[in-house]
Amino acid sequence: MSNNIIEVRDLKMYFPVLRGLLKRKVADVKALDGISFDIKEGETLGLVGESGCGKTTVGRNLIRLYKPTDGSIVFKGKEIAKAKEKDLGWVRREMAMVFQDPYSSLNPRLNSAEIVGEPLKIHNLVSSKKEFNERVEELFVMSGLSPDMMDRYPHEYSGGQRQRLSIARALAGDPSLIICDEPISALDVSMQAQILNLLQKLQEKREGLSYLFISHDLLAVQYISKRVAVMYLGHIVEMADSEELYSHTLHPYSQALLSAQPLPDPFIEENREVVVMQGELPTPLNPPSGCTFHTRCPMAQKICSEKAPELKDVGCGHCVACHLV
Ligand code: SF4
Repeated sequence: MSNNIIEVRDLKMYFPVLRGLLKRKVADVKALDGISFDIKEGETLGLVGESGCGKTTVGRNLIRLYKPTDGSIVFKGKEIAKAKEKDLGWVRREMAMVFQDPYSSLNPRLNSAEIVGEPLKIHNLVSSKKEFNERVEELFVMSGLSPDMMDRYPHEYSGGQRQRLSIARALAGDPSLIICDEPISALDVSMQAQILNLLQKLQEKREGLSYLFISHDLLAVQYISKRVAVMYLGHIVEMADSEELYSHTLHPYSQALLSAQPLPDPFIEENREVVVMQGELPTPLNPPSGCTFHTRCPMAQKICSEKAPELKDVGCGHCVACHLV
């Protein structure tokens, strides 16, 4: 039996471009154009790519903040891609999201106990005020916050504490999958390390807890993820175990991303080979033909603009979409 918590197949998300008084559809923005991946129970899958490549749209489709245009999302054995809003209550409990900016994602009018405990009330997970308070206190402690802070409002917290508050809220429904959408990019470096360690510790404590960790920070993704998928313009172009992907990077886009990432070791930083990408990320409104990376790829050949490469397994689950690999 499969131990996948979620299975995504050929997921597409097209946003219509409407024009004129009658709001006629004139084109589609292809934010996701047929992506497939699985996440196993207890696993962290990292999703990396430049801003605008579709990473956040993946997370929002999984938790069904967006309804996919096409494709399948099987979560805990049930198809949810086309499920109606009224049938998604259990998904919103079993799957939670931690956003990039904890300040705008937390209701400033609620105190922190009310914020963290809101899912307990929405999903009827407690039967008395006493049980509510005990559970909220437990969630505070789990997330590294002092229960003395339960009466405070989000603006009284530091950035790192606010992200801990978001994590405590995400844990309230005892979810199986947490989508972490750039959870550390608004924090300073020491806070980033603390939040990554907290996420890891929680996963160790709660058997079977899985993460989709979305980030443009390749080092953070390497640190926390068991497997990594690299996205470019609505497609997954490379996916492998974290160690394999970082030591045998095969796709020219992943190579360029990695070589643009500053390294902590100055000797390695100075002596490494740099792969330079040309130009900017093209618009998903009018993506390039064939391999969508061909307009920026230093290794592009004639076939690259004519035919889209398939994501194929080149051994041991290392999947790459490139005609030259
Ligand atoms: Fe570059 Fe061609 Fe490979 Fe695309 S298919 S990554 S353009 S070499």
